[in-house]
Amino acid sequence: MDLAPGIVSIGDRTRGYVRAFLVADGKDLTLVDTLGDTHPHAILAEIRHMGRSLSDLKRIWLTHAHFSHLCGVAELRQLTGAKVCSHEWEADIVSGDRKAQRVSIVPKRPLRAYYPFQIGLALGLGDHPPCPVDGVLTHEHEEGGLRVLHTPGHTPGHLAFWAEKHKVLLSGDAITTWPEFAAGWDSFTLNERQRRESLRLMAALHPAAVGVGHGDPITERAAERVDSLL
Ligand SMILES: [Zn+2]
Ligand SMILES: [Zn+2]
Repeated sequence: MDLAPGIVSIGDRTRGYVRAFLVADGKDLTLVDTLGDTHPHAILAEIRHMGRSLSDLKRIWLTHAHFSHLCGVAELRQLTGAKVCSHEWEADIVSGDRKAQRVSIVPKRPLRAYYPFQIGLALGLGDHPPCPVDGVLTHEHEEGGLRVLHTPGHTPGHLAFWAEKHKVLLSGDAITTWPEFAAGWDSFTLNERQRRESLRLMAALHPAAVGVGHGDPITERAAERVDSLL
């Protein structure tokens, strides 16, 4: 699905409706997250569908190091030669040198009412194929038509990305629409104060559309809906 010209969301119902995004900027492609399959079939198919070649993929930027968002990263890096980047805090999880931080509490309602098994898979603190990280991303770095936003809360090194030209926000798990519209998943937030600050930062952008980490993108009244989470 297109969020704007050259910004495409990829993903199906698996791993908690997890989503990845391809962003075209001139000839370059940037991929945000890599979905929950070890072999990135869906992403390769979308690159071809866009009429691009695999070598056009220059960078793979990760919102955070949860399993369902980075399973395909090692294979994609191998296949495309794209440079893999994340926030410094997440990098050694991506590379397999550290486990993702576990949350200590059991999911609260209403999440518990939704497919608990799927939630577990979606949060995905399982093992991904480890992948070398080629560089770290810092707040406000700009490249490939995207600006990096450090948006901690869900994880300490969580990133969102902002496409100023199209006013599209790629929020990762800082905002989700599955199983319900929320500022991330309450029960899986590691730091509540940081989460609120990150939300304010994203709301201040007044996005025209938001591509979220889980669920369908927000394409109508996006700024208003993000404001409603504050
Ligand atoms: Zn997550
Ligand atoms: Zn997630």
